[in-house]
Amino acid sequence: MIHAPHQPAIEKRVVIIGGGLAGLSAAAALSARGLQVTLLEMRRRVGGRAASFEDPLSGGLVDACQHVAMGCCTNFLDLMKQSGLENDFYRDRTMVFIGPNGVRSICSTQPWLPAPLHLLPMLWGLGHLSMFQRAAVVWGMLRLAWLRPSRLSDAKTTGKWLASIGQPAEAIRLFWQPVMESALGESIDLVDLAAARKVVVDGFFGNRHASDLVIPKKSLGEIFGVGLCDWLIGRGVHVRTSVTVSKIECNETGPKISLGTGEIISADSVVVAVPWKRAVSLVGDLLPPFPLLPQGSAADQEACLSGSPITAVHLWFDRPFLDVPHAVLVGQVSQWVFRPEYASEVDSKQHSGYCQVVISASRNVLAIGREQLLEKILEELQTFWPKAASANLVDWRIVTDPTAVLSVRPGVDRIRPTSVTKNSAVHLAGDWTATGWPSTMEGAVLSGRIAADGVLAQCGEGAPTTRVPDLPRSLLATCIAGRRALN
Ligand SMILES: Cc1cc2nc3c(=O)[nH]c(=O)nc-3n(C[C@H](O)[C@H](O)[C@H](O)COP(=O)(O)OP(=O)(O)OC[C@H]3O[C@@H](n4cnc5c(N)ncnc54)[C@H](O)[C@@H]3O)c2cc1C
Repeated sequence: MIHAPHQPAIEKRVVIIGGGLAGLSAAAALSARGLQVTLLEMRRRVGGRAASFEDPLSGGLVDACQHVAMGCCTNFLDLMKQSGLENDFYRDRTMVFIGPNGVRSICSTQPWLPAPLHLLPMLWGLGHLSMFQRAAVVWGMLRLAWLRPSRLSDAKTTGKWLASIGQPAEAIRLFWQPVMESALGESIDLVDLAAARKVVVDGFFGNRHASDLVIPKKSLGEIFGVGLCDWLIGRGVHVRTSVTVSKIECNETGPKISLGTGEIISADSVVVAVPWKRAVSLVGDLLPPFPLLPQGSAADQEACLSGSPITAVHLWFDRPFLDVPHAVLVGQVSQWVFRPEYASEVDSKQHSGYCQVVISASRNVLAIGREQLLEKILEELQTFWPKAASANLVDWRIVTDPTAVLSVRPGVDRIRPTSVTKNSAVHLAGDWTATGWPSTMEGAVLSGRIAADGVLAQCGEGAPTTRVPDLPRSLLATCIAGRRALN
């Protein structure tokens, strides 16, 4: 499938391989500077892991897994603004936590308080924790923010560190675990302490808008697969979908990109914006050596590139029963329940009660088996929403991505490659590269912009950078957490 491009302004040809958010963001940054950009994506639609599938019942689009960004995701939000898609998201400062005993806490941050004090009303509202546990959580956040990056030991996981500073086991289980697993997509027992500190400092602590939830109002397929794609085409990007790159060869005339069809495309620069295993198979000889954790390996302390699974359980009921747009179920198998806003468009009379349950770091859950997992989820939903018991389940689907996000284990930041490769015409992007961010939409967009900066430098187009800075830290947050490291 070929989408017609506009006339380019500068005769430098850049080929971007991979139409996930990293590739799309690189395409946006480079087309803005007038380069001739071709984007090659092997799937039918761009968007990569931030994708949707066709609802089997209505034919509308349903996200393979609900995605949520945060106010701190400055590059992602900037791209959405540039492309006119920011109104496809809404901001929510309120989170609903439902404790194991059914206690429902509706907690909001207060944007009129300076950061990090804006968090106190939210933390104090966590009714499923005792007063002592809430105080311990506030203290734990302060301790984590106080830790200077140079003192973050490589070998320590967040779970071990929290236990070592005396966080009560229940505070870890009922607060730290759900928060970190949702933010980082990895178990607290495996996750690097530096990544946890980033979540606390940049995601909550530093700025009163950092922790705002930014939630899509439409399906990701519509936003990225159609909206962002059409916007790029309108800016002259040549988007080709359903084409697989099989080989990249570099010689003195520049990179040659071979497609599965036998076609060969020449370019001045290439941005390889595919997942790490694909990048190794395409340009492995140009990358620094980094260990890959074999799928299913039990190693838990090695610094290696490996994925962490996320499972989404899609449930089509014949009537709605969720009385909130989203809720965190603490201490349950179901971690986060969503009733997406776009679901009302997808709904039909037979299944007006679509909802989605998201389970991050779902390794243990996968061992349960699909039918048993469904049973467990239904039981949990019926416990907290008794009306679910009288709703009929019309259809269900369990979607697991075994390598949904990069597993941010201790030491992994030392081996995440930068965008630079051994060939100055070949640049790397993707949420798994060294961005300083975990695998997120922000990490992916930032990586695309870093790679775009590299391409521009290679073309002699240099500054200014295509990146935007992080949210500024408040004075109080700076006193506690220190100044932001310059990236
Ligand atoms: C289940 C799940 C839940 C998530 N939840 C969130 C969330 O709530 N918030 C958040 O911020 N992030 C979330 N993420 C992470 C986010 O989706 C990713 O970080 C981001 O989309 C990665 O973008 P990318 O461009 O780096 O990689 P990808 O999206 O993987 O894009 C790579 C692209 O390259 C293409 N490709 C691969 N090989 C070739 C080839 N040979 N030729 C041509 N094309 C090729 C692929 O088809 C793909 O489209 C989630 C991810 C998953 C899977």
